[in-house]
Amino acid sequence: MNCLFCRIIEGEIPSAKVYEDEFVFAFRDINPLAPTHVLIVPKTHYDSVLDAPHETIGHMTEAAKLIAKAEGVDEKGFRLVMNTGADAGQTVKHLHMHLLGGRELPM
Ligand code: 5GP
Ligand code: ZN
Repeated sequence: MNCLFCRIIEGEIPSAKVYEDEFVFAFRDINPLAPTHVLIVPKTHYDSVLDAPHETIGHMTEAAKLIAKAEGVDEKGFRLVMNTGADAGQTVKHLHMHLLGGRELPM
């Protein structure tokens, strides 16, 4: 298996896990851009949001809501981002959602 996030999900590469359920795995970004920076990744490999069924997006978003509450960023606010393709700077070709919070996030 050649995919970095598939290997993290399998535990072949260590990560700081914050949440896991039947459908998703979530861990701290190795290069955090905010005090809370979590990556929420579906256990099934999709290259990007373009390939993923709506159920998968729903599972990721529900996990994000739970993690935002657990991280204590739900009241002040947070941002969910899915970079897609070159112009957006997607570097890992396994669908993931960034959860960013804990500071003001200018556009
Ligand atoms: P993208 O730029 O594709 O939207 O986001 C990929 C993210 O994965 C980046 O924010 C990057 O810091 C993070 N990342 C890359 N390699 C690793 C790793 O080995 N472990 C963790 N925890 N995060 C990683
Ligand atoms: Zn993968």
